[in-house]
Amino acid sequence: MSGVDGKVVAITGASSGIGEATALLLAERGAKVVLGARRTERLRDLADRITANGGQAAWTAVDVTRRADLATLVALARERFGRLDVLVGNAGIGPVSPLDDLRVEDWEAMVDVNLKGVLYGIAAALPVFRAQGSGHFVNVVSTAGLRIVPNQAVYAATKNAVRTLSEGLRQEAGAGLRVTVVSPGFVRTDFVDSVPDQQVRAELTAAKEEFAIPPEAVGETIAFAIAQPAAVDVNDLVVRPTAQG
Ligand code: NDP
Repeated sequence: MSGVDGKVVAITGASSGIGEATALLLAERGAKVVLGARRTERLRDLADRITANGGQAAWTAVDVTRRADLATLVALARERFGRLDVLVGNAGIGPVSPLDDLRVEDWEAMVDVNLKGVLYGIAAALPVFRAQGSGHFVNVVSTAGLRIVPNQAVYAATKNAVRTLSEGLRQEAGAGLRVTVVSPGFVRTDFVDSVPDQQVRAELTAAKEEFAIPPEAVGETIAFAIAQPAAVDVNDLVVRPTAQG
């Protein structure tokens, strides 16, 4: 199977930003999308928009820090659409700050959402992919892990942990499975709004307003990886603003 049309794609963090844009784009191209996030009213609205546009969508409440929620997301894909072709591990948080601030709870939250959330997704989907003999993990990491900068050490560490995990998964996956990491640069979403340090938030917001790319650019990148023929595994994609240093 190649192309996006007809594929069943589950997306974590589908309630806004990159996840939402990716869901809309894939559904327009004929994918059956299965949406997960905590803000269910936004998922309902997104699913309604997709359906009104002639697409197919299902949604369920997913907190990626809860292993059972990932199992529910994968089960929903199978119940509604009979299979799962792609799991997009996109849910993420970035309450970045200087290490000296010792915001240990934020560090733990980033590990729980950005790393353990992806692990729980693998635990839910891998047995299904094995039984099907096919499946595709797409994990959204970050250029923060490629160019390490102050204030983002923990965030970058979680993203690079997922990068490492994904390569290990790829090597264990065998011929039937595909594994992709996508590293976006600055994207125009609400992501930086949760940065606790006022000065860091102001700097990131200014950079975002100056040169961030739209979330659809990341959706296109994810769609490209999904659309390749089954034997073609696109492993590592970087998509960032031309103006980003
Ligand atoms: P948003 O804040 O718009 O989206 C984040 C998504 O993650 C939301 O849908 C949110 O849904 C979800 N999420 C957060 N915590 C949880 C949780 N515990 N369980 C389930 N879902 C959760 O930002 P982006 O779209 O920008 O971020 C998407 C991904 O892209 C993240 O992994 C981020 O690290 C990555 N990224 C973003 C960049 C940027 O510049 N914006 C650059 C590089 C990477 P809800 O709150 O409803 O649960």
